[in-house]
Amino acid sequence: MLRLPRFKYLRPQTAREAARMAADLGPRAMFVAGGTDLFPKLKRRQFEIETLIGLDFLPREVRNGSTDCVVGAGVTLAAVSRDEHLNQKFAGYAEAAGLVSSPPLRNAGTVGGNLCVDTRCNYYDMTYEWRKAAGFCLKKDGDICLVAPSSPRCWAVSSSDTAPMAIALDGVVMLTSPDGERELPVSALYRDDGIDYLAKQPSEVVTALRLSADRETKTAYVKLRRRGSIDFPIAGAAVALKLDGDMVIGCRIVLSAVASHPLEATAAEEFLKNQPINAETIRETADIAAKPAKPLDNADLSHFWRKRMVRVVVEQALQAATTRTGGSKVKLLGRQAD
Ligand SMILES: Cc1cc2nc3c(=O)[nH]c(=O)nc-3n(C[C@H](O)[C@H](O)[C@H](O)COP(=O)(O)OP(=O)(O)OC[C@H]3O[C@@H](n4cnc5c(N)ncnc54)[C@H](O)[C@@H]3O)c2cc1C
Ligand code: SF4
Repeated sequence: MLRLPRFKYLRPQTAREAARMAADLGPRAMFVAGGTDLFPKLKRRQFEIETLIGLDFLPREVRNGSTDCVVGAGVTLAAVSRDEHLNQKFAGYAEAAGLVSSPPLRNAGTVGGNLCVDTRCNYYDMTYEWRKAAGFCLKKDGDICLVAPSSPRCWAVSSSDTAPMAIALDGVVMLTSPDGERELPVSALYRDDGIDYLAKQPSEVVTALRLSADRETKTAYVKLRRRGSIDFPIAGAAVALKLDGDMVIGCRIVLSAVASHPLEATAAEEFLKNQPINAETIRETADIAAKPAKPLDNADLSHFWRKRMVRVVVEQALQAATTRTGGSKVKLLGRQAD
């Protein structure tokens, strides 16, 4: 049985206090929210820390406006997936939260923790003994990448289900540092780097996520994984579509689990904008969206197959979002949308 290492647990009362503690303690301390990702990793000695800073003071409420919604970083994924307003206005986001892992982990895992969750790799998400036997890698204790040995960087995979959907919905995170508060678009929260994957300061606490969409925006998230539960995504597509009749007037497509950051398929978005939505344009958009996805051999199942499946998840997500646009009579791959 793997055991947690010994650590000191601090319990600040506010985000500012937590940020100050993190700034003072530096890399030997980490924040913990639900602990669903952090605790297994501590057991596998993927992080070496002396102190955990608890974030149980974080807001646990969803505040609804007419076109936007502020979700406290402490809200659990289970609560998001059940929230009536989120399911109505931001269906893709509630859907993505409801597809994370399994019910017990969604009861503990939080909105903030899911946005900040570590990148993944088959050579890294292993016990200390396994990694030692295989030879450590760049991300922890080693000096080469075992997936791409000639590469100077780590290609661990961004595996958050909700981050792509938050980007597609123009999400903004509220951050608290020792010096104050600021807002940052979720699209600017990530770096294309498997190790240094967050663009915020390590001492900054995510306190809330604001999503916005007008009434016409319809969203969907489609996730591919080996089993129907527990598993991380091995490909995923978050789509936000704005339609005027059958014409696409706004389109965001963000891919999960195919790069070290949520990957926006900008060429596909440009292609679909100002086009009618139908089976043919959906198929062409999905082909274009899959091009920038370059999965490597460091996640579940074959990376060649995962690459081929990217166009499938994009196609399905576009279909699902279109089907949600009540009233539009769009012919989709042999189905008639309501
Ligand atoms: C078996 C298993 C399956 C899983 N499947 C999935 C899956 O399918 N999809 C998926 O997306 N995730 C999955 N996860 C990962 C994890 O359960 C979720 O990502 C969860 O949402 C993490 O939230 P948490 O609150 O538990 O974060 P924690 O584990 O507490 O923290 C995760 C990271 O975020 C940091 N952090 C947490 N909150 C904040 C904050 N407010 N501000 C700044 N930093 C913060 C922590 O320091 C840590 O680095 C899985 C985990 C396991 C063990
Ligand atoms: S991509 Fe390479 S460096 Fe990064 S975790 Fe995997 S093996 Fe290690």
